[in-house]
Amino acid sequence: MPIHEKSLIRPENLIEHEELVLDGVDVSGHWSTFIESRTVTDYNEALQEEIAALPGGEYIHRCWQCGSCTNACTVNAINTDFNPRYWIYLIRMGMESELLRDKDIIWQCVSCNKCTYACPRDVVPEGVMRATARWLELKGHVEEKPAEVFDDVFSSQVIATGKIEDGRVLRHFFQRTGQSLFQGWLVALIRGLVLRLPVKMLTTMGLATFFRPRTRGWGQAQAAIEDYVAEREATHRATLGLKAEGAE
Ligand code: SF4
Ligand code: SF4
Repeated sequence: MPIHEKSLIRPENLIEHEELVLDGVDVSGHWSTFIESRTVTDYNEALQEEIAALPGGEYIHRCWQCGSCTNACTVNAINTDFNPRYWIYLIRMGMESELLRDKDIIWQCVSCNKCTYACPRDVVPEGVMRATARWLELKGHVEEKPAEVFDDVFSSQVIATGKIEDGRVLRHFFQRTGQSLFQGWLVALIRGLVLRLPVKMLTTMGLATFFRPRTRGWGQAQAAIEDYVAEREATHRATLGLKAEGAE
């Protein structure tokens, strides 16, 4: 199936002769432009199934390619290369190598969900973007992105303690991503809190940043959630044809 959108034709597929005369007609430069045809032979027939197995990708099969998601997309408005409709098309067709050409921009989805509200088929394109970013990471095509690190830090804390302490989340997130704690915006935020919040509340928040408070009787819930997460992750890895974590 051809690619219809002009913006999707890669510069390397455009051929132009600077000087060309055919049958006495000068067709130099722009007049001799043609698009090199591409033959895709390396289909991954399991690609849609792999994305659908990851959280957010479940409804990809419903897409009918209307393009409403891309039209509504916040990121597409500033970068036309960011095109959820096109990536959903590639995934459904199993065109993995084409998808990988955009691996460094797929993760730029800002999860605004404008696409999700625009979609007439309840595909949840934002979820598909999330699943695709996760797929790229699990398959080793991209490094772990800060958004994934944040999700991991956040959920690990909830699972371990049954509580969420913003200060701890931020501290661990900055540590894992190698960023300084002394971010201008954070210093301004803390200064604002110090000026406005009661001393008792500030002390509790400060202590919680360094000492890990835990919900009473959380152990059983923690064990159940950890089992569930491990089971889900094992299923995801198996569907993607990856070895179990920790396996040789
Ligand atoms: S959630 Fe992502 S894909 Fe959807 S509109 Fe927002 S930026 Fe675009
Ligand atoms: S809006 Fe929904 S149905 Fe239309 S192209 Fe996007 S995901 Fe597919």
